[in-house]
Amino acid sequence: MPDATEFQTKDHFDVLLVGAGLSGIGAAYYLQARCPTKSFTILEAREGIGGTWDLFRYPGVRSDSDMYTLGYSFRPWRHEKAITDGPSILRYIRDTAEEYGIDHKIRFSNRVTRAVWSSSDARWTVEVEVGPEKRVSRYSCSFLYMCSGYYDYTEGYMPGWPGMNRFQGAIVHPQQWPANLDYEGRRVVIIGSGATAVTLAPAMAAQASHVTLLQRSPTYVVSLPAQDAIAKRLHKWLPARLAHSLARWKNVLVSMFFYNLARVNPQRVKQQILRAVQDELGPDYDVGKHFTPTYNPWDQRLCLVPDGDLFEVIRSGRISVVTDEIETFTETGLRLRSGEELRADIVVTATGLKVKLLGGMQIIVDDAPVDLPETLLYKGMMFSDVPNLACAIGYTNASWTLKCELTSTYVCRLINHMDSKGYAWCVPRRRDELVEEPAITLTSGYIQRAAAILPKQGSRKPWRLYQNYALDMAALRFGRVADGALEFGRTGSAQRAV
Ligand SMILES: Cc1cc2nc3c(=O)[nH]c(=O)nc-3n(C[C@H](O)[C@H](O)[C@H](O)COP(=O)(O)OP(=O)(O)OC[C@H]3O[C@@H](n4cnc5c(N)ncnc54)[C@H](O)[C@@H]3O)c2cc1C
Repeated sequence: MPDATEFQTKDHFDVLLVGAGLSGIGAAYYLQARCPTKSFTILEAREGIGGTWDLFRYPGVRSDSDMYTLGYSFRPWRHEKAITDGPSILRYIRDTAEEYGIDHKIRFSNRVTRAVWSSSDARWTVEVEVGPEKRVSRYSCSFLYMCSGYYDYTEGYMPGWPGMNRFQGAIVHPQQWPANLDYEGRRVVIIGSGATAVTLAPAMAAQASHVTLLQRSPTYVVSLPAQDAIAKRLHKWLPARLAHSLARWKNVLVSMFFYNLARVNPQRVKQQILRAVQDELGPDYDVGKHFTPTYNPWDQRLCLVPDGDLFEVIRSGRISVVTDEIETFTETGLRLRSGEELRADIVVTATGLKVKLLGGMQIIVDDAPVDLPETLLYKGMMFSDVPNLACAIGYTNASWTLKCELTSTYVCRLINHMDSKGYAWCVPRRRDELVEEPAITLTSGYIQRAAAILPKQGSRKPWRLYQNYALDMAALRFGRVADGALEFGRTGSAQRAV
Protein backbone atom coordinates (compact mmCIF):
# COMPACT_ATOMS: atom_id res chain seq x y z
CA MET A 1 0.00 0.00 0.00
CA PRO A 2 1.49 3.39 -0.97
CA ASP A 3 2.54 5.76 1.79
CA ALA A 4 0.10 8.62 2.44
CA THR A 5 2.75 11.21 1.51
CA GLU A 6 2.79 9.86 -2.07
CA PHE A 7 -0.71 11.12 -2.64
CA GLN A 8 -1.07 14.54 -4.19
CA THR A 9 -4.80 15.12 -3.84
CA LYS A 10 -7.40 14.39 -1.27
CA ASP A 11 -10.67 15.91 -2.35
CA HIS A 12 -13.99 14.76 -0.98
CA PHE A 13 -17.14 14.50 -3.13
CA ASP A 14 -20.64 13.39 -2.23
CA VAL A 15 -20.58 11.16 -5.30
CA LEU A 16 -17.71 9.93 -7.44
CA LEU A 17 -18.63 8.67 -10.89
CA VAL A 18 -16.17 6.44 -12.70
CA GLY A 19 -16.29 6.50 -16.50
CA ALA A 20 -17.24 9.18 -19.04
CA GLY A 21 -18.89 6.88 -21.59
CA LEU A 22 -22.55 6.75 -22.57
CA SER A 23 -23.67 5.70 -19.08
CA GLY A 24 -21.35 8.04 -17.12
CA ILE A 25 -22.54 11.14 -18.97
CA GLY A 26 -26.16 10.03 -18.50
CA ALA A 27 -25.54 9.42 -14.78
CA ALA A 28 -24.03 12.91 -14.39
CA TYR A 29 -27.08 14.46 -16.06
CA TYR A 30 -29.42 12.78 -13.54
CA LEU A 31 -27.24 13.64 -10.55
CA GLN A 32 -27.23 17.31 -11.55
CA ALA A 33 -30.95 17.33 -12.19
CA ARG A 34 -32.19 15.27 -9.25
CA CYS A 35 -29.57 15.74 -6.52
CA PRO A 36 -28.59 19.37 -7.25
CA THR A 37 -26.96 19.92 -3.84
CA LYS A 38 -24.60 16.96 -4.19
CA SER A 39 -21.00 17.54 -5.24
CA PHE A 40 -19.60 15.10 -7.76
CA THR A 41 -16.84 14.55 -10.28
CA ILE A 42 -16.21 11.98 -13.00
CA LEU A 43 -12.93 10.09 -13.04
CA GLU A 44 -12.08 8.86 -16.54
CA ALA A 45 -9.09 6.71 -17.46
CA ARG A 46 -8.94 7.89 -21.08
CA GLU A 47 -8.22 11.33 -22.45
CA GLY A 48 -11.64 11.86 -23.99
CA ILE A 49 -15.37 11.38 -23.51
CA GLY A 50 -17.24 8.51 -25.14
CA GLY A 51 -15.87 5.18 -23.85
CA THR A 52 -16.78 2.44 -26.35
CA TRP A 53 -17.57 4.97 -29.07
CA ASP A 54 -14.19 6.64 -28.66
CA LEU A 55 -12.22 3.40 -28.41
CA PHE A 56 -13.58 1.44 -31.37
CA ARG A 57 -12.38 2.85 -34.69
CA TYR A 58 -12.73 -0.07 -37.12
CA PRO A 59 -14.34 0.55 -40.52
CA GLY A 60 -18.11 0.79 -40.38
CA VAL A 61 -18.32 0.75 -36.55
CA ARG A 62 -21.97 1.37 -35.62
CA SER A 63 -24.74 0.61 -33.17
CA ASP A 64 -26.89 -2.43 -33.62
CA SER A 65 -29.67 -0.93 -31.50
CA ASP A 66 -31.82 1.99 -32.54
CA MET A 67 -30.69 5.33 -31.15
CA TYR A 68 -34.13 6.17 -29.73
CA THR A 69 -33.43 3.53 -27.06
CA LEU A 70 -29.60 3.60 -27.05
CA GLY A 71 -29.69 7.41 -26.81
CA TYR A 72 -30.82 9.24 -23.67
CA SER A 73 -34.50 9.73 -22.91
CA PHE A 74 -33.78 13.39 -22.04
CA ARG A 75 -31.99 14.31 -25.28
CA PRO A 76 -33.79 13.57 -28.54
CA TRP A 77 -31.97 11.73 -31.31
CA ARG A 78 -32.53 13.89 -34.39
CA HIS A 79 -30.50 12.13 -37.08
CA GLU A 80 -31.98 10.42 -40.13
CA LYS A 81 -30.68 6.98 -39.22
CA ALA A 82 -31.92 5.10 -36.16
CA ILE A 83 -29.12 2.51 -36.49
CA THR A 84 -26.16 4.76 -36.87
CA ASP A 85 -22.38 5.03 -37.20
CA GLY A 86 -19.94 5.20 -34.28
CA PRO A 87 -18.71 8.77 -34.95
CA SER A 88 -22.32 10.09 -34.79
CA ILE A 89 -22.86 8.33 -31.45
CA LEU A 90 -19.59 9.76 -30.13
CA ARG A 91 -20.66 13.26 -31.21
CA TYR A 92 -24.06 12.79 -29.52
CA ILE A 93 -22.41 11.80 -26.21
CA ARG A 94 -19.90 14.67 -26.39
CA ASP A 95 -22.59 17.20 -27.35
CA THR A 96 -24.72 16.02 -24.43
CA ALA A 97 -21.80 16.49 -22.03
CA GLU A 98 -21.19 19.97 -23.40
CA GLU A 99 -24.85 21.02 -23.43
CA TYR A 100 -25.29 20.16 -19.74
CA GLY A 101 -21.88 21.41 -18.59
CA ILE A 102 -20.79 17.87 -17.67
CA ASP A 103 -17.56 18.14 -19.69
CA HIS A 104 -16.19 20.48 -16.99
CA LYS A 105 -16.81 17.85 -14.31
CA ILE A 106 -14.49 15.22 -15.78
CA ARG A 107 -10.94 14.50 -14.64
CA PHE A 108 -9.31 12.74 -17.57
CA SER A 109 -6.35 10.32 -17.43
CA ASN A 110 -7.52 9.25 -13.96
CA ARG A 111 -7.65 5.45 -13.78
CA VAL A 112 -9.31 4.16 -10.61
CA THR A 113 -7.44 1.15 -9.29
CA ARG A 114 -8.77 0.60 -5.80
CA ALA A 115 -11.62 1.65 -3.51
CA VAL A 116 -11.45 1.20 0.25
CA TRP A 117 -14.58 1.54 2.38
CA SER A 118 -14.36 2.61 6.00
CA SER A 119 -17.44 1.97 8.11
CA SER A 120 -16.24 4.23 10.92
CA ASP A 121 -16.53 7.34 8.76
CA ALA A 122 -18.92 5.93 6.13
CA ARG A 123 -16.87 6.85 3.11
CA TRP A 124 -14.86 5.43 0.26
CA THR A 125 -11.24 6.31 -0.37
CA VAL A 126 -10.55 5.84 -4.03
CA GLU A 127 -7.03 5.40 -5.39
CA VAL A 128 -6.27 6.63 -8.85
CA GLU A 129 -3.36 6.46 -11.28
CA VAL A 130 -3.00 9.83 -12.99
CA GLY A 131 -1.52 10.36 -16.45
CA PRO A 132 1.01 8.23 -18.31
CA GLU A 133 3.43 8.41 -15.41
CA LYS A 134 0.74 6.75 -13.21
CA ARG A 135 1.18 9.17 -10.33
CA VAL A 136 -0.91 7.89 -7.42
CA SER A 137 -3.63 10.20 -6.17
CA ARG A 138 -6.73 9.69 -4.08
CA TYR A 139 -10.20 11.04 -3.49
CA SER A 140 -12.86 10.26 -0.99
CA CYS A 141 -16.59 10.09 -1.53
CA SER A 142 -19.76 9.12 0.25
CA PHE A 143 -21.21 7.20 -2.71
CA LEU A 144 -19.32 5.50 -5.53
CA TYR A 145 -21.13 5.05 -8.84
CA MET A 146 -19.28 2.91 -11.37
CA CYS A 147 -20.09 3.62 -15.02
CA SER A 148 -17.01 1.82 -16.25
CA GLY A 149 -18.60 -0.49 -18.84
CA TYR A 150 -18.15 -4.25 -18.95
CA TYR A 151 -14.95 -5.07 -20.80
CA ASP A 152 -11.18 -4.73 -20.68
CA TYR A 153 -10.01 -1.61 -22.48
CA THR A 154 -6.41 -2.77 -22.75
CA GLU A 155 -7.05 -5.68 -25.14
CA GLY A 156 -9.75 -7.76 -26.78
CA TYR A 157 -10.13 -11.53 -26.65
CA MET A 158 -7.70 -13.28 -28.98
CA PRO A 159 -7.58 -17.08 -29.07
CA GLY A 160 -4.23 -18.49 -30.16
CA TRP A 161 -4.04 -20.58 -33.36
CA PRO A 162 -1.16 -22.71 -34.57
CA GLY A 163 1.19 -21.08 -37.05
CA MET A 164 0.19 -17.47 -36.36
CA ASN A 165 3.80 -16.29 -36.33
CA ARG A 166 4.62 -17.66 -39.76
CA PHE A 167 1.78 -15.72 -41.43
CA GLN A 168 3.36 -13.06 -43.67
CA GLY A 169 0.38 -10.68 -43.68
CA ALA A 170 -1.13 -8.46 -40.98
CA ILE A 171 -3.22 -9.76 -38.07
CA VAL A 172 -5.51 -7.09 -36.64
CA HIS A 173 -7.93 -7.05 -33.69
CA PRO A 174 -10.89 -4.65 -34.11
CA GLN A 175 -10.31 -3.21 -30.62
CA GLN A 176 -6.84 -2.01 -31.69
CA TRP A 177 -7.46 -0.93 -35.24
CA PRO A 178 -4.34 0.61 -36.82
CA ALA A 179 -5.27 4.09 -38.07
CA ASN A 180 -3.22 3.64 -41.26
CA LEU A 181 -4.28 0.10 -42.21
CA ASP A 182 -4.53 0.02 -46.00
CA TYR A 183 -6.77 -2.77 -47.25
CA GLU A 184 -7.55 -1.44 -50.73
CA GLY A 185 -7.29 -4.29 -53.22
CA ARG A 186 -6.24 -6.73 -50.46
CA ARG A 187 -7.68 -10.14 -49.61
CA VAL A 188 -9.19 -10.00 -46.15
CA VAL A 189 -10.31 -12.85 -43.91
CA ILE A 190 -12.45 -11.87 -40.93
CA ILE A 191 -12.61 -14.51 -38.20
CA GLY A 192 -15.85 -14.34 -36.24
CA SER A 193 -19.61 -14.36 -36.59
CA GLY A 194 -20.74 -11.71 -34.10
CA ALA A 195 -21.82 -8.09 -34.39
CA THR A 196 -18.31 -6.83 -35.14
CA ALA A 197 -17.69 -9.36 -37.93
CA VAL A 198 -20.99 -8.64 -39.69
CA THR A 199 -20.36 -4.89 -39.38
CA LEU A 200 -16.79 -4.99 -40.63
CA ALA A 201 -17.36 -7.31 -43.60
CA PRO A 202 -19.53 -5.02 -45.77
CA ALA A 203 -17.51 -1.93 -44.77
CA MET A 204 -14.19 -3.56 -45.79
CA ALA A 205 -15.69 -5.15 -48.91
CA ALA A 206 -16.12 -1.64 -50.36
CA GLN A 207 -12.33 -1.42 -50.86
CA ALA A 208 -10.86 -4.91 -50.40
CA SER A 209 -10.45 -7.21 -53.39
CA HIS A 210 -12.40 -9.88 -51.49
CA VAL A 211 -13.61 -10.47 -47.93
CA THR A 212 -14.12 -13.93 -46.43
CA LEU A 213 -16.18 -14.19 -43.29
CA LEU A 214 -14.80 -17.27 -41.55
CA GLN A 215 -16.92 -18.65 -38.72
CA ARG A 216 -16.75 -21.80 -36.65
CA SER A 217 -20.52 -21.71 -36.16
CA PRO A 218 -23.27 -19.36 -37.41
CA THR A 219 -25.22 -16.62 -35.60
CA TYR A 220 -28.77 -15.44 -36.24
CA VAL A 221 -28.60 -12.43 -38.54
CA VAL A 222 -31.64 -10.16 -38.90
CA SER A 223 -32.04 -7.25 -41.29
CA LEU A 224 -33.68 -4.05 -40.02
CA PRO A 225 -34.27 -0.73 -41.77
CA ALA A 226 -31.55 1.77 -40.80
CA GLN A 227 -34.18 4.50 -40.81
CA ASP A 228 -37.22 4.21 -38.57
CA ALA A 229 -40.13 5.39 -40.74
CA ILE A 230 -42.56 5.81 -37.82
CA ALA A 231 -40.03 7.76 -35.76
CA LYS A 232 -39.32 10.01 -38.74
CA ARG A 233 -43.00 10.75 -39.15
CA LEU A 234 -43.39 11.45 -35.43
CA HIS A 235 -40.48 13.90 -35.62
CA LYS A 236 -42.13 15.66 -38.55
CA TRP A 237 -45.40 16.21 -36.72
CA LEU A 238 -44.51 16.55 -33.04
CA PRO A 239 -42.10 18.48 -30.80
CA ALA A 240 -38.72 16.73 -30.67
CA ARG A 241 -38.97 15.53 -27.05
CA LEU A 242 -42.43 14.05 -27.48
CA ALA A 243 -41.52 12.41 -30.80
CA HIS A 244 -38.36 10.93 -29.26
CA SER A 245 -40.25 9.61 -26.27
CA LEU A 246 -42.95 7.97 -28.42
CA ALA A 247 -40.36 6.45 -30.78
CA ARG A 248 -38.46 5.14 -27.75
CA TRP A 249 -41.53 3.49 -26.24
CA LYS A 250 -42.54 2.05 -29.60
CA ASN A 251 -39.10 0.44 -29.97
CA VAL A 252 -39.03 -0.78 -26.36
CA LEU A 253 -42.39 -2.52 -26.83
CA VAL A 254 -41.54 -3.96 -30.26
CA SER A 255 -38.22 -5.41 -29.04
CA MET A 256 -39.85 -6.78 -25.85
CA PHE A 257 -42.55 -8.41 -27.98
CA PHE A 258 -40.04 -10.14 -30.28
CA TYR A 259 -37.77 -11.17 -27.41
CA ASN A 260 -40.70 -12.74 -25.54
CA LEU A 261 -42.00 -14.41 -28.69
CA ALA A 262 -38.54 -15.93 -29.23
CA ARG A 263 -38.52 -17.25 -25.65
CA VAL A 264 -42.05 -18.64 -25.82
CA ASN A 265 -42.02 -19.96 -29.38
CA PRO A 266 -38.38 -20.31 -30.46
CA GLN A 267 -39.11 -22.62 -33.41
CA ARG A 268 -41.51 -20.15 -34.99
CA VAL A 269 -39.08 -17.24 -34.62
CA LYS A 270 -36.19 -19.37 -35.87
CA GLN A 271 -38.13 -20.32 -39.01
CA GLN A 272 -39.07 -16.67 -39.64
CA ILE A 273 -35.47 -15.48 -39.32
CA LEU A 274 -34.14 -18.24 -41.58
CA ARG A 275 -36.85 -17.67 -44.20
CA ALA A 276 -35.98 -13.97 -44.31
CA VAL A 277 -32.27 -14.80 -44.82
CA GLN A 278 -33.15 -17.27 -47.59
CA ASP A 279 -35.27 -14.59 -49.29
CA GLU A 280 -32.33 -12.17 -49.11
CA LEU A 281 -29.73 -14.63 -50.45
CA GLY A 282 -31.81 -16.62 -52.93
CA PRO A 283 -33.02 -20.22 -53.02
CA ASP A 284 -29.61 -21.74 -53.88
CA TYR A 285 -27.74 -20.26 -50.94
CA ASP A 286 -26.85 -22.76 -48.18
CA VAL A 287 -28.61 -20.98 -45.28
CA GLY A 288 -28.66 -24.24 -43.31
CA LYS A 289 -24.86 -24.30 -43.19
CA HIS A 290 -23.95 -20.62 -42.88
CA PHE A 291 -26.86 -18.91 -41.09
CA THR A 292 -28.50 -21.59 -38.91
CA PRO A 293 -27.13 -21.70 -35.36
CA THR A 294 -27.47 -24.79 -33.17
CA TYR A 295 -29.06 -22.70 -30.39
CA ASN A 296 -32.39 -20.87 -30.21
CA PRO A 297 -32.86 -17.15 -30.99
CA TRP A 298 -31.83 -15.02 -27.98
CA ASP A 299 -29.84 -17.80 -26.28
CA GLN A 300 -27.20 -15.42 -27.65
CA ARG A 301 -27.64 -11.86 -28.93
CA LEU A 302 -29.00 -11.60 -32.47
CA CYS A 303 -26.89 -9.74 -35.02
CA LEU A 304 -28.70 -6.88 -36.70
CA VAL A 305 -27.67 -5.66 -40.13
CA PRO A 306 -29.09 -2.33 -41.31
CA ASP A 307 -30.98 -2.51 -44.62
CA GLY A 308 -29.57 -6.02 -45.19
CA ASP A 309 -26.15 -4.55 -46.10
CA LEU A 310 -24.35 -7.82 -45.38
CA PHE A 311 -26.70 -9.85 -47.58
CA GLU A 312 -26.40 -7.38 -50.44
CA VAL A 313 -22.61 -7.71 -50.51
CA ILE A 314 -22.78 -11.51 -50.25
CA ARG A 315 -25.13 -11.47 -53.27
CA SER A 316 -22.65 -9.33 -55.17
CA GLY A 317 -19.91 -11.94 -54.59
CA ARG A 318 -17.56 -9.53 -52.76
CA ILE A 319 -18.04 -11.41 -49.46
CA SER A 320 -18.08 -15.16 -49.05
CA VAL A 321 -19.04 -16.93 -45.87
CA VAL A 322 -17.07 -20.03 -44.85
CA THR A 323 -18.21 -22.19 -41.93
CA ASP A 324 -15.27 -24.32 -40.85
CA GLU A 325 -12.51 -24.53 -38.23
CA ILE A 326 -8.99 -23.20 -38.48
CA GLU A 327 -6.34 -25.92 -38.52
CA THR A 328 -3.40 -23.56 -38.85
CA PHE A 329 -2.22 -20.23 -40.17
CA THR A 330 0.13 -20.63 -43.12
CA GLU A 331 2.58 -18.14 -44.69
CA THR A 332 -0.17 -17.00 -47.08
CA GLY A 333 -3.36 -17.37 -45.08
CA LEU A 334 -5.25 -20.12 -43.29
CA ARG A 335 -5.71 -23.85 -43.70
CA LEU A 336 -9.06 -25.18 -42.49
CA ARG A 337 -10.05 -28.56 -41.04
CA SER A 338 -11.83 -29.42 -44.30
CA GLY A 339 -8.48 -28.98 -46.09
CA GLU A 340 -9.59 -25.76 -47.79
CA GLU A 341 -6.95 -23.00 -47.97
CA LEU A 342 -7.93 -19.33 -47.60
CA ARG A 343 -5.41 -16.86 -48.98
CA ALA A 344 -5.21 -13.58 -47.08
CA ASP A 345 -3.17 -10.39 -46.94
CA ILE A 346 -4.96 -9.29 -43.77
CA VAL A 347 -6.64 -11.44 -41.09
CA VAL A 348 -9.03 -9.63 -38.75
CA THR A 349 -9.73 -11.45 -35.50
CA ALA A 350 -13.27 -10.31 -34.67
CA THR A 351 -13.21 -12.74 -31.76
CA GLY A 352 -14.72 -10.52 -29.11
CA LEU A 353 -14.10 -8.76 -25.84
CA LYS A 354 -12.67 -9.72 -22.48
CA VAL A 355 -15.30 -9.05 -19.85
CA LYS A 356 -14.07 -6.92 -16.93
CA LEU A 357 -16.38 -5.45 -14.31
CA LEU A 358 -15.87 -2.25 -12.31
CA GLY A 359 -12.97 -1.27 -14.56
CA GLY A 360 -10.75 -3.85 -12.85
CA MET A 361 -10.90 -1.86 -9.60
CA GLN A 362 -10.04 -3.71 -6.39
CA ILE A 363 -12.69 -3.26 -3.65
CA ILE A 364 -11.91 -3.46 0.04
CA VAL A 365 -14.60 -3.16 2.69
CA ASP A 366 -13.22 -2.58 6.20
CA ASP A 367 -9.95 -4.43 5.47
CA ALA A 368 -11.64 -7.37 3.69
CA PRO A 369 -11.17 -7.65 -0.08
CA VAL A 370 -14.44 -8.19 -1.94
CA ASP A 371 -14.61 -11.13 -4.32
CA LEU A 372 -17.32 -10.25 -6.87
CA PRO A 373 -18.28 -13.86 -7.74
CA GLU A 374 -19.11 -14.33 -4.04
CA THR A 375 -21.61 -11.46 -4.11
CA LEU A 376 -25.23 -11.30 -5.24
CA LEU A 377 -26.40 -8.51 -7.52
CA TYR A 378 -29.05 -6.36 -5.88
CA LYS A 379 -31.55 -4.86 -8.38
CA GLY A 380 -28.91 -5.45 -11.05
CA MET A 381 -26.78 -2.56 -9.73
CA MET A 382 -25.44 -3.09 -6.18
CA PHE A 383 -23.55 -5.97 -4.59
CA SER A 384 -24.50 -7.80 -1.40
CA ASP A 385 -22.54 -6.53 1.63
CA VAL A 386 -20.87 -3.72 -0.33
CA PRO A 387 -22.07 -0.34 1.03
CA ASN A 388 -22.77 2.84 -0.94
CA LEU A 389 -21.65 1.48 -4.30
CA ALA A 390 -23.70 1.02 -7.47
CA CYS A 391 -22.77 0.21 -11.03
CA ALA A 392 -24.43 0.87 -14.37
CA ILE A 393 -24.85 -2.39 -16.27
CA GLY A 394 -27.17 -2.41 -19.26
CA TYR A 395 -29.40 -5.06 -20.78
CA THR A 396 -28.14 -7.97 -22.84
CA ASN A 397 -31.43 -8.24 -24.74
CA ALA A 398 -32.19 -4.54 -25.32
CA SER A 399 -30.38 -1.21 -25.48
CA TRP A 400 -27.79 -0.67 -22.76
CA THR A 401 -29.02 2.81 -21.92
CA LEU A 402 -32.55 1.71 -21.02
CA LYS A 403 -31.31 -0.04 -17.88
CA CYS A 404 -28.50 2.43 -17.14
CA GLU A 405 -30.97 5.32 -17.01
CA LEU A 406 -33.23 3.36 -14.64
CA THR A 407 -30.16 2.65 -12.50
CA SER A 408 -29.13 6.33 -12.46
CA THR A 409 -32.58 7.56 -11.50
CA TYR A 410 -32.72 4.91 -8.77
CA VAL A 411 -29.30 5.96 -7.42
CA CYS A 412 -30.65 9.53 -7.19
CA ARG A 413 -33.75 8.30 -5.34
CA LEU A 414 -31.55 6.31 -2.98
CA ILE A 415 -29.26 9.25 -2.23
CA ASN A 416 -32.25 11.55 -1.64
CA HIS A 417 -33.91 8.94 0.59
CA MET A 418 -30.74 8.63 2.71
CA ASP A 419 -30.52 12.42 2.95
CA SER A 420 -34.10 12.82 4.08
CA LYS A 421 -33.67 10.17 6.82
CA GLY A 422 -30.19 11.25 7.86
CA TYR A 423 -28.56 7.97 6.84
CA ALA A 424 -24.88 7.82 5.92
CA TRP A 425 -24.79 4.32 4.49
CA CYS A 426 -26.91 1.67 2.85
CA VAL A 427 -26.00 -1.91 2.11
CA PRO A 428 -27.88 -4.76 0.41
CA ARG A 429 -28.16 -7.75 2.75
CA ARG A 430 -29.03 -11.27 1.76
CA ARG A 431 -31.33 -12.37 4.59
CA ASP A 432 -33.19 -15.46 3.38
CA GLU A 433 -32.15 -18.60 1.63
CA LEU A 434 -31.92 -17.94 -2.09
CA VAL A 435 -31.01 -20.11 -5.01
CA GLU A 436 -27.94 -18.57 -6.69
CA GLU A 437 -27.82 -18.46 -10.46
CA PRO A 438 -25.41 -17.00 -13.02
CA ALA A 439 -26.04 -13.26 -13.44
CA ILE A 440 -26.17 -13.54 -17.23
CA THR A 441 -27.72 -16.57 -18.88
CA LEU A 442 -26.59 -15.93 -22.48
CA THR A 443 -24.57 -18.83 -23.90
CA SER A 444 -22.26 -16.48 -25.86
CA GLY A 445 -18.53 -17.23 -25.68
CA TYR A 446 -17.57 -13.98 -23.92
CA ILE A 447 -20.16 -14.56 -21.17
CA GLN A 448 -19.14 -18.20 -20.69
CA ARG A 449 -15.46 -17.19 -20.48
CA ALA A 450 -16.35 -14.60 -17.83
CA ALA A 451 -18.57 -16.85 -15.67
CA ALA A 452 -15.89 -17.19 -12.96
CA ILE A 453 -15.53 -13.43 -12.44
CA LEU A 454 -19.17 -12.33 -12.53
CA PRO A 455 -21.42 -11.86 -9.48
CA LYS A 456 -24.47 -14.12 -9.14
CA GLN A 457 -28.18 -13.31 -9.21
CA GLY A 458 -30.77 -14.71 -6.83
CA SER A 459 -33.91 -16.64 -7.59
CA ARG A 460 -36.29 -13.81 -6.59
CA LYS A 461 -36.75 -10.06 -6.12
CA PRO A 462 -34.77 -7.89 -5.45
CA TRP A 463 -31.89 -10.18 -6.37
CA ARG A 464 -33.26 -11.35 -9.69
CA LEU A 465 -32.29 -9.84 -13.04
CA TYR A 466 -35.36 -9.72 -15.21
CA GLN A 467 -33.76 -8.21 -18.32
CA ASN A 468 -37.15 -6.56 -18.81
CA TYR A 469 -37.57 -2.80 -19.04
CA ALA A 470 -41.21 -2.73 -17.91
CA LEU A 471 -40.56 -4.82 -14.76
CA ASP A 472 -37.41 -2.86 -13.94
CA MET A 473 -39.21 0.42 -14.42
CA ALA A 474 -41.90 -0.67 -11.97
CA ALA A 475 -39.29 -1.80 -9.43
CA LEU A 476 -36.79 1.05 -9.77
CA ARG A 477 -39.00 4.06 -10.43
CA PHE A 478 -41.96 3.19 -8.25
CA GLY A 479 -40.84 0.41 -5.86
CA ARG A 480 -39.98 1.23 -2.24
CA VAL A 481 -36.35 2.16 -1.59
CA ALA A 482 -36.54 0.74 1.94
CA ASP A 483 -37.53 -2.73 0.71
CA GLY A 484 -36.23 -4.75 3.65
CA ALA A 485 -33.19 -6.06 1.77
CA LEU A 486 -31.40 -2.70 1.87
CA GLU A 487 -30.09 -1.84 5.32
CA PHE A 488 -29.42 1.77 6.34
CA GLY A 489 -27.39 3.39 9.11
CA ARG A 490 -25.92 6.66 10.38
CA THR A 491 -22.26 7.58 10.70
CA GLY A 492 -20.80 6.13 13.87
CA SER A 493 -23.94 4.07 14.50
CA ALA A 494 -23.29 1.01 16.64
CA GLN A 495 -24.14 -1.23 13.75
CA ARG A 496 -21.52 -1.13 11.04
CA ALA A 497 -22.08 -1.23 7.33
CA VAL A 498 -20.32 -4.60 7.17
C1 LIG B 1 -18.48 -2.10 -30.97
C2 LIG B 1 -19.59 -2.07 -29.97
C3 LIG B 1 -20.89 -1.79 -30.37
C4 LIG B 1 -21.91 -1.76 -29.44
N1 LIG B 1 -23.18 -1.51 -29.87
C5 LIG B 1 -24.19 -1.50 -28.97
C6 LIG B 1 -25.52 -1.24 -29.38
O1 LIG B 1 -25.82 -1.03 -30.54
N2 LIG B 1 -26.50 -1.27 -28.44
C7 LIG B 1 -26.22 -1.52 -27.12
O2 LIG B 1 -27.14 -1.51 -26.32
N3 LIG B 1 -24.96 -1.74 -26.72
C8 LIG B 1 -23.95 -1.75 -27.58
N4 LIG B 1 -22.67 -1.99 -27.16
C9 LIG B 1 -22.40 -2.11 -25.75
C10 LIG B 1 -21.82 -0.72 -25.34
O3 LIG B 1 -20.60 -0.88 -24.75
C11 LIG B 1 -22.82 0.06 -24.54
O4 LIG B 1 -23.97 0.28 -25.28
C12 LIG B 1 -22.36 1.43 -24.07
O5 LIG B 1 -21.67 2.20 -24.99
C13 LIG B 1 -21.57 1.25 -22.82
O6 LIG B 1 -21.47 2.49 -22.22
P1 LIG B 1 -20.80 2.64 -20.80
O7 LIG B 1 -20.61 4.09 -20.60
O8 LIG B 1 -21.57 1.89 -19.79
O9 LIG B 1 -19.41 1.88 -20.94
P2 LIG B 1 -18.17 2.24 -21.87
O10 LIG B 1 -18.59 2.79 -23.16
O11 LIG B 1 -17.32 1.02 -21.88
O12 LIG B 1 -17.44 3.41 -21.06
C14 LIG B 1 -16.80 3.14 -19.85
C15 LIG B 1 -15.86 4.27 -19.54
O13 LIG B 1 -15.29 4.02 -18.27
C16 LIG B 1 -13.89 4.23 -18.32
N5 LIG B 1 -13.25 3.37 -17.33
C17 LIG B 1 -13.27 2.02 -17.26
N6 LIG B 1 -12.57 1.59 -16.21
C18 LIG B 1 -12.10 2.70 -15.57
C19 LIG B 1 -11.32 2.89 -14.41
N7 LIG B 1 -10.87 1.88 -13.69
N8 LIG B 1 -11.02 4.17 -14.04
C20 LIG B 1 -11.47 5.23 -14.77
N9 LIG B 1 -12.22 5.09 -15.89
C21 LIG B 1 -12.54 3.84 -16.29
C22 LIG B 1 -13.50 3.85 -19.74
O14 LIG B 1 -12.28 4.44 -20.12
C23 LIG B 1 -14.69 4.37 -20.53
O15 LIG B 1 -14.53 5.70 -20.95
C24 LIG B 1 -21.64 -2.02 -28.08
C25 LIG B 1 -20.33 -2.34 -27.68
C26 LIG B 1 -19.32 -2.37 -28.61
C27 LIG B 1 -17.94 -2.72 -28.15
